[in-house]
Amino acid sequence: MTNLNEFTITEARNAIVKGDIKAVELTKACIEAMDGAKDSNAFITKTPDLALERALVSDERIAKGESRSALEGIPIAIKDLYCTKGVLTTAASHILDGFVPTYESTVTKNLKNSGSVMTGKTNLDEFAMGSANVTSYYGPVKSPWKLDDGKDRVPGGSSGGSAVAVAAHLSLGAIGTDTGGSIRQPASFCGIVGMKPTYGRCSRWGTIAFASSLDQAGPMTKTVRDAAIMLQCMAGHDPKDSTSVPRAVPDFEAAITGDVRGLKVGIPKEYVIDGAPEEISEIWKKGADMFRDAGAQIVDITLPHTKYALPAYYIVAPAEASSNLSRYDGVRYGLRVPGNSLDEMYANTRGEGFGEEVQRRILIGAYVLSAGYYDAYYVKAQQVRSCIAEDFTKAFQEVDVILTPTAPSTAFAIGEKMDDPIAMYMNDVFTVPASLAGLPCVSVPGGMGNDGLPLGLHLISKPFDEETLFCAADVLERQANFTTQPRGWGRKR
Ligand code: GLN
Repeated sequence: MTNLNEFTITEARNAIVKGDIKAVELTKACIEAMDGAKDSNAFITKTPDLALERALVSDERIAKGESRSALEGIPIAIKDLYCTKGVLTTAASHILDGFVPTYESTVTKNLKNSGSVMTGKTNLDEFAMGSANVTSYYGPVKSPWKLDDGKDRVPGGSSGGSAVAVAAHLSLGAIGTDTGGSIRQPASFCGIVGMKPTYGRCSRWGTIAFASSLDQAGPMTKTVRDAAIMLQCMAGHDPKDSTSVPRAVPDFEAAITGDVRGLKVGIPKEYVIDGAPEEISEIWKKGADMFRDAGAQIVDITLPHTKYALPAYYIVAPAEASSNLSRYDGVRYGLRVPGNSLDEMYANTRGEGFGEEVQRRILIGAYVLSAGYYDAYYVKAQQVRSCIAEDFTKAFQEVDVILTPTAPSTAFAIGEKMDDPIAMYMNDVFTVPASLAGLPCVSVPGGMGNDGLPLGLHLISKPFDEETLFCAADVLERQANFTTQPRGWGRKR
């Protein structure tokens, strides 16, 4: 018998519907697993009492036949970037010390209203800036994937805690946020599914802002079907976020038909990068073969501006971050470090409250927005962004989805790349272009690297065509048949 925390959302939903298990049992199994995985540092705040309370209410609704959705009674972990009413919310930053929101973000409210059970708030890179979950004020997160060299692996970032919560079976699903790859890259490192919907599909209201024109909420799950189920409950128009799009939310699960015959899958030649290990092109080729075997058509395409995506992202994202983070001044939120004048108090608070990476981004952002450099950097980066979006528009006249690797490597050891920001930024080379174009995309476990750690495959689809994306990703998942489990925590068997 599988431990309950090892269920997929789909399995748990079916067992709940049949009356075989109760939400309370499921939640207890997750709480126990979380307690056994303290070493992972995946959670900043655990909410076991609240979870049991919500699970009990779920069981009552289920007993009365008043189940609210497929997520009724399902334990879900929440990245600590979402404001949760009455529950500490930190963005993994010292500057938000003691911040307990008086309001609930729209996405977590939607999840709550769908009957799901929040298990806690997961660790992340400070303000979601990072690719390894090593910039958190609360310390690094350790991946459950272990090798024999005694070194702990990073889970990827910035949604590293959420990725570990799912990979190590501490919750059945989790939510992350993705600005340039923060859902998909940790999903690749941890051997799980991570999905970023179209920009505007989910409300950003109440989610702590990093780069507002890029930030999107998304599910992190054990299977593609689970991601479809979760997104169904997260998405929807929100009058409180003017960038959330007033479109009906289609039935994502119904789009998973198992049939990709005739689907056109684009392979962009610009995603072959110098110096990437052989295993990356191998897994990519395997992915194309899997689609071919399933009856899809492989089409070579070109996205000519791809090489400018990463530099453009590292101008646009810090620019928006420098503006968004100006609100943390020691007056309105969290930490205050006194000084002899108001200016000194601001400087002391921001100097102590923000970590090194966040300060680096604020400096870059302020620089590229400054009067003398605005045209040369920020305006240029926005122009490049338009070119990248146009490349995709053209490509999607020929193909339905685009297949690429998710990340240029498997997970590295904690401590590596930390003194080399550029090497760290390279992690996002495959995920950033779709972010700049606002496109829906997903990472699916594709196989193992030579070192015995997971590697993801990345699919991108047309704006608001999450249905095709889920359908294609589900077929890829079946073909790849990734069943290996990590050694660390969470599993008793
Ligand atoms: N790693 C990228 C960065 O540090 C992306 C982060 C994210 O998507 N939140 O900006």
